Amino acid sequence: MHNISNSSLPVLLKACELTKTYEEGPIKTEVLRKVNLSLREGELTAIIGKSGSGKSTLLHILGTLDTPTSGELLFEGVKLTDLSSSEKARLRNQKIGFIYQFHHLLEDFTAKENVMMPLLIGSYTQKEASELASEYLAKVGLYDRQQHKPSELSGGERQRVAIARALVTSPDLIFADEPTGNLDALNAKTVFKLFYDLVHAKGTTVLMVTHDEGLASLCDRVLRMQDGVIDA
Ligand code: ADP
Ligand code: MG
Repeated sequence: MHNISNSSLPVLLKACELTKTYEEGPIKTEVLRKVNLSLREGELTAIIGKSGSGKSTLLHILGTLDTPTSGELLFEGVKLTDLSSSEKARLRNQKIGFIYQFHHLLEDFTAKENVMMPLLIGSYTQKEASELASEYLAKVGLYDRQQHKPSELSGGERQRVAIARALVTSPDLIFADEPTGNLDALNAKTVFKLFYDLVHAKGTTVLMVTHDEGLASLCDRVLRMQDGVIDA
């Protein structure tokens, strides 16, 4: 296991002294306590930590889905706190992908429509979106399942659709929150390997939460989180 970053690679995302505190009446919950972190281009970093240690909160803040209580976040050197919410939404759509433990696919839409969605939200035409969605579903081995709805797919297949949906916009950065957490060990490994090969081929930067030491050890770098801090 290693947590030393390959310092010759450029930094894509840098977090400085991030904190997140929830206040409900007199009760304060410090979920993040001065997190410092740099994600370098093309690196696949795993975060391991107990449930409740703040991993999902950290991913949401790094992915601009949530805001920190204090601290600074720089994406390609640009301060994210200086961006308006529409600029952040554009950054998310164009440069960031998310994959969750429970895929979050839209149940009323086919696999292909789910993968087309981020392209249609962006500036792609229907035809471009259709072609790219098919291409990415083929990459995850689901070319012949494009017209199936999520309920007609297995757990592993649904996670593969979610991977295709996250990758289809060619984001620079992907956040994956226990992307294989609801799969059995064999399926988890197969889906992870597929994901790993795809992101490495494209040089995508990835931050992945996992409970699985085996999968973490396959990543370029492993961080450990405990009570809202990343162990040095
Ligand atoms: P992990 O992903 O490592 O399991 P989370 O980031 O989901 O951890 O949660 C970290 C802590 O933050 C937990 O103790 C959780 O109860 C608390 N928490 C998360 N969201 C809220 C919220 N909206 N209000 C208060 N506490 C919260
Ligand atoms: Mg979590």
